[in-house]
Amino acid sequence: VRTIGILGGGQLGRMLSVAASRLGLRCHIYEPGANPPAAEVAHACTTASYEDEAALRAFARSVDVITYEFENIPTSALDLLEDLRPIRPGREALRVSQDRLTEKSFLRDLGLATAPFADVTDAASMTVALDGIGTPAILKTRRLGYDGKGQARLSTPADAEAARAAMNGAPAILEGFVDFSREISVIAARNADGDVACFDPGENLHDNGILRRTTVPAGIPGPMRMDAVLIASKILNALDYVGVLGVELFVTPGGLVVNEIAPRVHNSGHWTQNGCVVDQFEQHIRAVAGWPLGDGARHADVVMENLIGEDMERVPELARRPDTALHLYGKAETRAGRKMGHANIVTAKSS
Ligand code: ATP
Ligand code: MG
Ligand code: MG
Repeated sequence: VRTIGILGGGQLGRMLSVAASRLGLRCHIYEPGANPPAAEVAHACTTASYEDEAALRAFARSVDVITYEFENIPTSALDLLEDLRPIRPGREALRVSQDRLTEKSFLRDLGLATAPFADVTDAASMTVALDGIGTPAILKTRRLGYDGKGQARLSTPADAEAARAAMNGAPAILEGFVDFSREISVIAARNADGDVACFDPGENLHDNGILRRTTVPAGIPGPMRMDAVLIASKILNALDYVGVLGVELFVTPGGLVVNEIAPRVHNSGHWTQNGCVVDQFEQHIRAVAGWPLGDGARHADVVMENLIGEDMERVPELARRPDTALHLYGKAETRAGRKMGHANIVTAKSS
């Protein structure tokens, strides 16, 4: 493999391209939007829609393997690309994770704990779902949600109509509210030989549904760290997965509950850039390119802080800190709620 095609040109595509370039590989980005952050560091960039069959074909023919930095790629584009080049991670991982109902069912069928959930398509199924699950609960669109968008919380059954209205008619899933003490995530990788390497679980702090901070080590006992890694490995193997996967989990008194999976490098794995010899981006490129995996061992404690919107004002101060590595995405326009970069604050390994 010499050239890797990446669907999506955001910051994840940018950091994948940097990692590939360090390994002497080239990346070709495919992105419908203008000025993708990945374009300026990649070898090539195609700006075209996912409906443009000629552009998709030319893109596929120019690369050896195709991967992606976001999971909501239209099925028609995937069908076309798959006939021309291998897509890694494969279609099954995308099929499962593009729809929250399919995803939760897959996790439950693997024997993993999830929030109680039910399909909601109309007023009648909402009533049935609420009878079974009760409140508090969260209604989420089945597809296309991220950063807590497309979600409505229900404190009492009286909130049902307002929550349904917030879905704008889209199919949804009702989830029972998990009373968690912490949120953690595992970033895990599997290569074509079936080797698995997991990074240490990170502890995640969200604000308004958007990730603010990831801390490693997570404040959980050793056996629970092991449980988290075993859950991630089980998911990788079940999907015959090739690449990096993010698994978000809730810590509860009864053990770990899986929230969701992301078939790609993950924001909560950005700490690996300064806490590990091989970070999640290089690990993904290695897996996709058919290389051996790097070691996931952690050599430092790290706090990863997302720089969102006006947080960019902190950059001059952060740039003066000797313990802090800055990763900025080169986005021209700062907007409220937009992820502009992150800072990894690195200290000696404690445990
Ligand atoms: P991401 O940007 O991580 O893809 P998302 O939009 O897919 O986010 P979720 O991860 O499902 O959304 O939810 C966002 C946050 O909302 C979670 O990290 C958690 O804090 C809270 N949350 C989601 N589902 C539940 C639940 N069933 N019980 C309790 N809290 C929840
Ligand atoms: Mg999500
Ligand atoms: Mg999430």
